[in-house]
Amino acid sequence: MSIKRNAHIMTLCFALTGMTVSRPCLANNLDRTADGLHQEIAEHLAAAQKLLEQVLAVKGGRTIDNTLRPANEMNMHLDTASEKASLFAQTHPDEAVRTAAEKAQQDVSKFFTDLGLNRELFEAFKSADISNADNDTRRIMEKTLRDFRLAGVDRDDATRKRIKQLQDEMVKLNQAFGKNIRESVRSIKVDSPSDLAGLPEDYIEAHAPGDDGKITITTDYPDYIPFMNYAKSDKYRLAIYREYRKRGYPKNLSVLSDLLTKRAELASLLGFDNWADYITQDKMIGSAAAIDKFVNKIAELAKAPAERDMAALIVAKRLDFPDADRILDYEKGYYEERVRSTKFDFDSQEARPYFEFSRVQQGLFDVTGRLFGVEFRPVKGMKLWHKDVTAWDIYDGDEHIGRFMLDLHTRPGKYKHAACFGYQTGIRGKRIPISVLVCNFPNPRTSSPALMEHSDVVTFFHEFGHLLHAMFSGHHDWIGISGISTEWDFVEAPSQMLEEWSWDANVLRMFAKHHETGEPIPTAMVKKMRAARDFGKGMQVRQQMFYASMSLNYHNRDPKSLDTTELMKQLTDRYAPCDYIEDTYMQCSFGHLTGYSAIYYTYMWSMVIAKDMFSEFEKTTMFDPSVAKRYRRSILEAGGAKPAAKLVEDFLGREYSFDAYGKWLRGDTPAS
Ligand SMILES: [Zn+2]
Repeated sequence: MSIKRNAHIMTLCFALTGMTVSRPCLANNLDRTADGLHQEIAEHLAAAQKLLEQVLAVKGGRTIDNTLRPANEMNMHLDTASEKASLFAQTHPDEAVRTAAEKAQQDVSKFFTDLGLNRELFEAFKSADISNADNDTRRIMEKTLRDFRLAGVDRDDATRKRIKQLQDEMVKLNQAFGKNIRESVRSIKVDSPSDLAGLPEDYIEAHAPGDDGKITITTDYPDYIPFMNYAKSDKYRLAIYREYRKRGYPKNLSVLSDLLTKRAELASLLGFDNWADYITQDKMIGSAAAIDKFVNKIAELAKAPAERDMAALIVAKRLDFPDADRILDYEKGYYEERVRSTKFDFDSQEARPYFEFSRVQQGLFDVTGRLFGVEFRPVKGMKLWHKDVTAWDIYDGDEHIGRFMLDLHTRPGKYKHAACFGYQTGIRGKRIPISVLVCNFPNPRTSSPALMEHSDVVTFFHEFGHLLHAMFSGHHDWIGISGISTEWDFVEAPSQMLEEWSWDANVLRMFAKHHETGEPIPTAMVKKMRAARDFGKGMQVRQQMFYASMSLNYHNRDPKSLDTTELMKQLTDRYAPCDYIEDTYMQCSFGHLTGYSAIYYTYMWSMVIAKDMFSEFEKTTMFDPSVAKRYRRSILEAGGAKPAAKLVEDFLGREYSFDAYGKWLRGDTPAS
């Protein structure tokens, strides 16, 4: 899939929020107890508070040295506290640590809210003399003052007090929404192994009947996704589909409603018509109306391709149901898979023997190492939070660029999607960037061989694209410029672009070797995979525009009279490729409504730019060192030093355009 709904980066909304230091940053113990984490976060917050007081106490003229630098140190503490709290809340195997981390997130978030509303600090920044400063310093000043204003610092006391309350309440609601989804693992029971017909053998083996003779299928991805794609049983696919779309229901109906109400009030206090207008102020896109225009433009571009896809699915369905005249949502994955295997003579199971986990990981290192001229070395002797987690250093020659941890396998209580988490943002001369990749791939420790789907491989490349962005960009002086601190609607572009390497036959043949025979994946198979990928993209893009429209339309109106289920149904009719299925409530498990709120469009927006950037590599080769170097310098290393549109222009030598994306969607991309 080129569109990954389940993959995203954890970013922070407020630029001041990004930063850290202090502790020996390469300490070998990265595991935490609940008490240890609590204490560590408290120490960071105390240190940040002390630095804040130091900045405010300055007498006389304000300078970069007496104001911006200590504020940056403060931000470094807050960055570390915030990143660790977020990571451990989602990944730590001990529930007590996860709970402590959630509490810590609230504390850190409260600190940020107070900072954003701190009038004295705002005045201190405003009066600092940056007349002789370099570009990065001017930019961090500009971003900081903008973020202060967006936080409401220039509002009266009563308004600022209310803003604080709202921010605190929103953090809790966001957490409750996520927790309700995470903890809502639903399931169905099927009667016997024969009800698993169509599923891969290893799946059937892993799902033995229980004491009651029945087999449990849960809504967790490793259970759910193969079931939806391969299980012949129409009845059970519908049953698990309903359960999947009831995750978080009914609890999250009221949580969501409360959240939308608070967001609307906050936007109104800050002088905006609605939350969507407010949240787009610091994005490339700029306004709610521009999102609406973008969504409709893309949905229109995808209309004819989606109709073609749907017609092909109906033909496939008629082999089972001769009178069929439409495809229901719970049938989509299954018939897409059927069309792929008949029309394109491709069954995604055929490719799995070539994607043994350990080889894929090494392949990813080899490919990106060659592309960007870097090397990955394992870090020994680290105490990590789970035995499946590994630690790595990235080097460019002798230069130690950064460190990362890979936490790639499913376990109870762990984050269920794929994402790149921060651990600490790098700061030039002070600390290296550290990030953590969190995914849910087959585990070589528990299944041998651990065979991945090609879609997992694509996810791995995607998330690694975020990780490399964090590694290369984490070498500026200021938190808020260093690391992945570009506009949010640009952050997916580098990761989406890196996906292209996981679709190229020559690249795949470097590492995708049959786990038994060692034969590289046949070029003809990759060709079929690409054709199969391209099938269905019209419908996928429409589906994405449905999500984007939901995200926008929940936030561009008065929430008082808003029935989220009703609006979701209407938007399904307008944008989604398949009809709404009664008694489902996907908004209750649409986790991106917390992190992304109104701006789910960002995924497709980034993709428009990713396709455009990739066209530079298509002109020569996938490993052209001069293009890769220019890309690394202009885009990745630049971090947030310039507006994203300017970074892209630096790389392309022109403004970005929709042309490459349009070609891709119509299907006239060059075959390779
Ligand atoms: Zn992503």
